[in-house]
Amino acid sequence: MKNCFLLLFISCLFFSCGQSSKSDGKTLTVTIAPQRYFLEKLAGSAYKINTLVPPATSPETYEPSPATMIALGKSAVYFKVGFLGFENVWSQKLKENNPHVSIADCSSGIDLMYDEDEHSHGADPHIWSSPKNALILSKNMLDALVKLDPKQEDTFRANHEKLAVEIEATDSVIRQKLANLPSRGFIIYHPALSYFARDYGLDQYSIEFEGKNPSPLQIKEIVDLAKAKRIQTVFVQTGFDTKNAEVIAQEAGAKIYSINPLSEEWNKELIRIADILAGGQHE
Ligand SMILES: [Zn+2]
Repeated sequence: MKNCFLLLFISCLFFSCGQSSKSDGKTLTVTIAPQRYFLEKLAGSAYKINTLVPPATSPETYEPSPATMIALGKSAVYFKVGFLGFENVWSQKLKENNPHVSIADCSSGIDLMYDEDEHSHGADPHIWSSPKNALILSKNMLDALVKLDPKQEDTFRANHEKLAVEIEATDSVIRQKLANLPSRGFIIYHPALSYFARDYGLDQYSIEFEGKNPSPLQIKEIVDLAKAKRIQTVFVQTGFDTKNAEVIAQEAGAKIYSINPLSEEWNKELIRIADILAGGQHE
């Protein structure tokens, strides 16, 4: 109920009641910090980048604050990831009430994954964990920037070329590190590495079951699976439960590592994840 009022209040304040805010033409908004990594390199210093989801917050349960909504309303372009739950609700409202903000879908053209085990919640939203996807995501961002400011097209394209080289270098470093693993499986609390696993032929097993904590039976099943597949790595993430992961790691004789797939240092964090899988460095 409290949330309902808050939602109504925010909607009223920034979308429908009164004049709509004007874009300053120099603010761009992204949903999560990893998108900022790409957009900063593409857009350069001429633009101010506003990130909706603050650090250590799960985008799955996030609700934008009034201040972030004001910044969003002033943006020239909003770059949504594509399939994060709240994005669709908010971008619909944004479109209706702030038609001057153009919306760019970073997932456009990406080969999406769907989890057959879950009641269909739509596509797996965590597209940014894959360098292959990052190339497409960056191209989507480039197209939106060129549309926004055609005079700067050459600069944007040059920036994009450099960024693509960087993404490809990140991919080859990771590929090398993951070439010979003792086990290609890993356990993770919240399944944020599906696309990473697809890129590098890994098997991701999530502890979280349909967005909820697992039952004792499900925990036992994961422990058995970890033993059978000789899984040595259990990942936990900032902002999510760690208790069940600790139990599973201990029972299975695996090690537990804290990772942050929402890090703004996109390349460093993916390489760190590869390092952990390759031999348990970087605790
Ligand atoms: Zn997630």
